[in-house]
Parts: sequence; structure tokens; C-alpha cells
Amino acid sequence: MIVATDYGEVRYFRMARTFLGRAIYWTGVYLVDGLLVDSGPPNLGRDVRRLVGELAVRQCVTTHHHEDHSGNHGLLAAELRITPLAHASAVPRLAEPDTHFQLYRRVAWGRRPAALTAPLGDVLETTRFRFRVVHTPGHAADHVALFEPERGWLFSGDLYLAARLRYLRADEDVHAMIDSLRRVVALEPRLLFCQHRGRVEHGAARLRQKLDFLIELGGRIQDLHDRGWSEAAITRGLPGSDLFWRLWTGGDFSKRNFVRAFLRQPSRPSR
Ligand SMILES: [Zn+2]
Ligand SMILES: [Zn+2]
Repeated sequence: MIVATDYGEVRYFRMARTFLGRAIYWTGVYLVDGLLVDSGPPNLGRDVRRLVGELAVRQCVTTHHHEDHSGNHGLLAAELRITPLAHASAVPRLAEPDTHFQLYRRVAWGRRPAALTAPLGDVLETTRFRFRVVHTPGHAADHVALFEPERGWLFSGDLYLAARLRYLRADEDVHAMIDSLRRVVALEPRLLFCQHRGRVEHGAARLRQKLDFLIELGGRIQDLHDRGWSEAAITRGLPGSDLFWRLWTGGDFSKRNFVRAFLRQPSRPSR
């Protein structure tokens, strides 16, 4: 299922595989001045092919290697004779097919085939816009956001998602995420174009909320850890229930991952 929304110069195509008429997990791609931001999950390849056949897509960039964002690069390359762009560290990864065995990802999005991509530079130009490519690791090490300073747009991939996260993926680096959020907040974006939520107003304020939430949560976790609380006890002490997500993702999304991620030492910043 694909639902198109017009945000003036930017179009959002929200998409999901459905089960008994209901979306399993919404994601989306944006089209701005011939640039497609992400290519959607591999199990929607047929819909994406039909979609790009009707649109004047001249370039494609992927925000990170997750299959709900990069699943149709091979298809785009074949249909449109373009080479999608990705952060340099994503290029070798995208050249190989998915190797994980996480059932929820297979069900919701399908298996990402191998695809050829080219490394992004620091700037990405379309006919009318000039985007700054901002490396924003955390959610994934190869995550990038695109910032258009004249309009105050930030195509934020999966950097934002929500001001208050209820769970973390097992492979997310929360320290890098905080650092990335600090750097994009400093750009003062007015509008976020979030891959899963659509357009989000008051971009800088929303990102700052998320940053403050994570810093506060990290402080609380560290404090309980310093008092000798176990990982399990700290997790139980965090607000909200992650039961649904924990069961559905086989533990890949959980509150406990927050505790583990915050107690892990920050890794060196990479570029
Ligand atoms: Zn992602
Ligand atoms: Zn995503």
C-alpha cells in the first residue's frame, strides 16, 4: 500500500505491506526536485516500480542501509539507469544482500537484494536545491541526513522518529545518536521530513526534545548503575511497557537495549 501526501515542493509516499487490510509497519520515501530520498522496502518492489515509472526521478539517496530504506536500489538502477548514493561506509554493505535472520524484518519488509551504490560527497545538488550531507551515526553507523539551509529542511531518515523513544534496537549506538542530534540541532532546521512519521514542524525544537530525553534517561540509568542496580532491575525501573515490541521483534527492540547502550562506553566518533 502506498499513500501519497503533498507538502508543497516535497512529496511523501508512505508505504507498508498489509495483512488483512492493515499496515504491518509504515515507512516512506520522499521526492523533492527529482531526488528520491530512500527507495522503500524490498517487498513493495512492484509498487515502487510503478511509482517511479510515473515520477521524474533523476537521483536517489539512501539515508542508511536498513532494508525498509534501501530495498529497491537495484530496481531503481535498472529502471532509471541511475546509481543510488549512500554514505561511503554503506556502499560495501549494500553491495551484499541481507544476511540477518530476524523474522520480523523479513515479514514486515522482506529481504534486501545486493545493489550497486556510489558514495555521497558533502553536498548533494538537484536543479533547484543544494543539500548538505550530514553524517549522523547512532541509529545506524552509516546514517546520513540531508539539510537544505534556504528552506530549513532536514530529511532526517530515522534520526528523529519520536521525541521520546520507548525502546532501542539492539545495534543502536546511543552515544553516537546523542552526538548526531547535537550537531543537527545546531543547524536549527525548521521542518523535519521523517521517513516513518512524515513532515514534523518545529524541527529544531523536536530534535532538542529528543536530545534532552536521551540525556536525562542516560543520567538516570548511569545513576542506578552507580548505586549497584542490575541491568534487569534498571530496565524494570524505566517507565512504559515494551512488551509488544519485544515479542514482535524477538527482543531486537527493547527497553533493556537502552540500559545496555548507555552503559556501553562511547566508541570513537567516525566519519
Ligand atoms: Zn532504520
Ligand atoms: Zn526505518
